[in-house]
Amino acid sequence: MEQIEMLWEFQQADMEADAFESEIKRSPNRLALKKNRDFLLEQQNAVKQMEEQIAEMLDRVDVIKDAIERQMEQLKALQTRLTETPPDSLEEARAFAQDAGKLVGNIQSYEAEMKRIQQDAGDHERQQKEIGVKYAKVKAEYEKQKVEYEEEYKEQVKALEDKRAAAQEKGKDIEPALMERYQTIKKHCIPPVAKLVNGQCGGCYMGLPQVTLRNLKSGAKIIECESCGRMIVPL
Ligand SMILES: [Zn+2]
Repeated sequence: MEQIEMLWEFQQADMEADAFESEIKRSPNRLALKKNRDFLLEQQNAVKQMEEQIAEMLDRVDVIKDAIERQMEQLKALQTRLTETPPDSLEEARAFAQDAGKLVGNIQSYEAEMKRIQQDAGDHERQQKEIGVKYAKVKAEYEKQKVEYEEEYKEQVKALEDKRAAAQEKGKDIEPALMERYQTIKKHCIPPVAKLVNGQCGGCYMGLPQVTLRNLKSGAKIIECESCGRMIVPL
């Protein structure tokens, strides 16, 4: 068999194997499995983020507790001073009141912040629980799908291997340089080989120059289409 005929037959088998491979990738079961896997990963990330936020909140609560305690101590010290050495002027009394007011104000705003944090933490925990329930449900579904798909996938891979082997068998006597050219063209043009159709490239349907056609008829080496870059075989 001529090299170009072998190449043509190899291409048929090669294209068939490629088409089958992309069919495997588009399998509805595979896509459903991927969708669930993506969902599970997303939820894992969300939970991780929430845990980090909760940890930050707990740290902040500790800081606030300390701050409140310090303000309380100062307030107590102020009260002690007030009992031990009562103010003897209106001005002094005002200054005491101002200091006490400031401390109480601080304590109140710390307490308000603490309350907000506790609410947020509660919201986070509720969300986390909700995610946990959804996660468990999807995870169970995913595990089941995975087992089923693995079975399907094993069969498909076997079928693909058969197709690849068939293509290899058809291509085994093709000259290495020709095969290499095929693989190079395949990177940007599929299928890489086209037939000559009415003086045109059977891939892009551009007319070929007369000189090219003459070369082709006189049995010149493989010719490539100037427009699309495919190899043209006079079959
Ligand atoms: Zn072309």
